[in-house]
Amino acid sequence: TPIIGVLALQGDVREHAIALAELDAIARPVRKVEEFADLDALVIPGGESTTMSKLAVSFGLFPALRARVAEGMPVYGSCAGMIMLADKILDGREDQETVGGIDMIVRRNAFGRQNDSFEADVPFAGLEGDDPIHGVFIRAPWVESVGAEVEVLARLSAEPYADRIVAVRQGNLLATSFHPELTPDRRVHAYFVDMVRATL
Ligand code: GLN
Repeated sequence: TPIIGVLALQGDVREHAIALAELDAIARPVRKVEEFADLDALVIPGGESTTMSKLAVSFGLFPALRARVAEGMPVYGSCAGMIMLADKILDGREDQETVGGIDMIVRRNAFGRQNDSFEADVPFAGLEGDDPIHGVFIRAPWVESVGAEVEVLARLSAEPYADRIVAVRQGNLLATSFHPELTPDRRVHAYFVDMVRATL
């Protein structure tokens, strides 16, 4: 049974923990350096990336997080978690640090004020079945551009945001702009847990 940490500095930790437990993984909230050592994988939840980043600095977590990513530990980030996995961000706070690991540029709050929050059906490559995922976007980022090693898993399909990239994978790192932890469909978490099981 994989032990999957959920970074519990800020954000929707509980919803991710519930989703993981439903898939027979052990979900463990983590916030201290010592707690990262025996994890098989990590989820970085949605929330507020500037706050999460600040807290990660004050808890001294960035070196341990980057080291585990470099070792190949699987990490899934939703929304603010996607921002945390981006090598580069746009419209971030001046000194906002990220863990990085995915060769992409992510734009924070990309959908603007009018569309602070919206929902859309998103075709998502590699999930069980052909049904799109119902994506909940809350002051969401989008992926502005990706490097050659990054696999694009999902793009929005309707105007005005058609073709905007909203889910990516690079190696053992997975990121979505939206929040599958807030809807009952568990296919994105199942995709991640399968990635984790493949490393055990
Ligand atoms: N706008 C938030 C940020 O910059 C992300 C929102 C979310 O995680 N729902 O971190």
